[in-house]
Amino acid sequence: MASGAAGNPDRLREYRARRDAARTPEPVPAAPAKGKRGRAREPIFVVQEHRATALHWDFRLERDGVLVSWALPKGVPTDPRRDHRAVRTEDHPVEYADFTGRIPAGEYGAGTVATYDRGTYALQKWTDDEVKVELSGERLTGRYTLFRTGGADWMIHREKGQEPLGEPVPDDLRPMLAVPGPAPAGGGWAAEFKWDGIRALCRVEGGRARLRSRNGNDLTETYPEIRALAKTVSSARLLLDGEIIALDAAGKVSFGALQPRFGTSGSEALRLSRSNPASYLIFDLLHLDGRSTRELPYSDRRELLESLELSGPHWQTPPAFPDTPVAELLAAARAAGLEGVVAKRLDAPYQPGVRSPAWRKVKVTGSQSAVIGGFTPLKRQDAARSRPPREIGALLLGIPDAAGTLHYVGKVGSGFTEHDRRVLLEELSELAVPESPFATAVDAADARVATWVRPVVVAEVTFGEWTAKGRLRHPVFKGIRPDKDASEVVREP
Ligand code: MN
Repeated sequence: MASGAAGNPDRLREYRARRDAARTPEPVPAAPAKGKRGRAREPIFVVQEHRATALHWDFRLERDGVLVSWALPKGVPTDPRRDHRAVRTEDHPVEYADFTGRIPAGEYGAGTVATYDRGTYALQKWTDDEVKVELSGERLTGRYTLFRTGGADWMIHREKGQEPLGEPVPDDLRPMLAVPGPAPAGGGWAAEFKWDGIRALCRVEGGRARLRSRNGNDLTETYPEIRALAKTVSSARLLLDGEIIALDAAGKVSFGALQPRFGTSGSEALRLSRSNPASYLIFDLLHLDGRSTRELPYSDRRELLESLELSGPHWQTPPAFPDTPVAELLAAARAAGLEGVVAKRLDAPYQPGVRSPAWRKVKVTGSQSAVIGGFTPLKRQDAARSRPPREIGALLLGIPDAAGTLHYVGKVGSGFTEHDRRVLLEELSELAVPESPFATAVDAADARVATWVRPVVVAEVTFGEWTAKGRLRHPVFKGIRPDKDASEVVREP
C-alpha cells in the first residue's frame, strides 16, 4: 500500500483500471496526478454516502495529490466508545471530492454517490499503519485515528475525551402505521410477517434501553427482560421499531399471552418475565449514533439494521422478504398460523406517526380493534333487579369515524376468561356514564341492561366478516389494547 509514496508517478493506476471514462460520469483524469500542490492550503476530507451493492460510506483524505480512501460499512463513528471497520480502497483523484450522482448499472461501484460531509483536516500522524487527523467539517469534527489491523482491514476510532457527535436520540416519535388492504402486486415491496403483539419503539443510549408504546406509554418497567438489549450494544445510540410478543402454552405468538403483563412493573413484572418471557422483534431503525436514518429508504434502513446483528435471548431481527411476492408470504403466514404480513415500499422513508400507504398490512384472519362503549351483565336478571353486575356478559363495541363519532359495530360475548370478566368489570365500572356514547342505535334488548362507559378503552377481537349492517360477525375477544388510543381505531376492510 503506497500511502506515503509521494512522487509515485501514477497513484491512480488502479482507480483508472477499474473505470471506463466513456461509461461512468465519475472523473477519470487522463494525466497522472501531480504529487505536489502549487500553494499550501489545508488538505480536504470528504465522506461520501455510496449506495452500491451494499450501502457504505467512503472516507477520503487528500494526501500527495490524491484522495486516500477507505470504505466504512457503518460510516464514521460519532462516539469514542464505538470503533468502526474501515476497508482501504484504491486512491481516488482529488476531483472525486466533488462527485455526486449515479454510477450506471454494470460499472464498478454501480449505485448512487452523495456527499455526507466535507471539510478540511489537520494532519497529526501518517504512517502505513496509522493515520491521525483532526477533522473540521459540517457534521464531522474532532480527532480521529485510523489504524491498520491487517491487509486492507483498518479500524476508525473517534479519540476519547470528545463529546459524541450528532443529534440526541429522539424521545417523542410515534411509530409509522400501515394502511389495511389487499396484498400489493408487482415489485418494489418487501414483506415482513405481522406479529400479534404490542408495537413499541426502543431507545438505546448510554447503555440503557427505554421502551415506549405507540401511544407514548413507557413500557420499560413492564418488560425487564428486553432492557438487556442495551448491554449488547453498549455504546451505540439507537432508536428501534418493533413488536413485543409472547407465546402461548402451545408455543404460538399470542396477543392474549401478553395480557397478564399489562400495567405491571417491579417485582410483579420480573416474576412474569420469568414465567412467560416476552421478546422484542425488531423491524426498523430510526436513528443510529447521532444521525436520523428516517429519511433513508426502507431498503437502506433494513440493511443498516441487519448490520447491527441484534439477536439475543429476548430480542431478534426477523427477516424481511424483498424478493418474495407478498401473496406468497401471506400464504406462508396463513400456514404458520400468523396474523398476516406487512408490505413495505422499498423506496419509502420512515414517517413517524403517519398511517402511510407506503406500508400495507394484510391480515390472514379478520382482526379488529374497537372502542368499548358499554357492557351487558353475564346474568341479565341482575340488571332486571337493579343489582350491580357481578361479571361482564358482553362488551358493546364501536368504531369512530373520521370526525370522531362513535358508531356501534356489535357486541362480543365470547373469548373471555373468568379473570377477563372480573378485571374488565372492575376497570369499566370506573368509567360508567349515564348516556350511550354511540351515535348509532344499540339493539334494544342490550341497551335495556347495558352499563354505558366513557369510550376510552380499546379491545381487540377476531371476527368472521362484516355484515351488511356494518356489524362484526362472530367476534371473539382477544384482549385489551392499552397501547392504542380510542382515536387511533380504524375499520379494517
Ligand atoms: Mn464506495
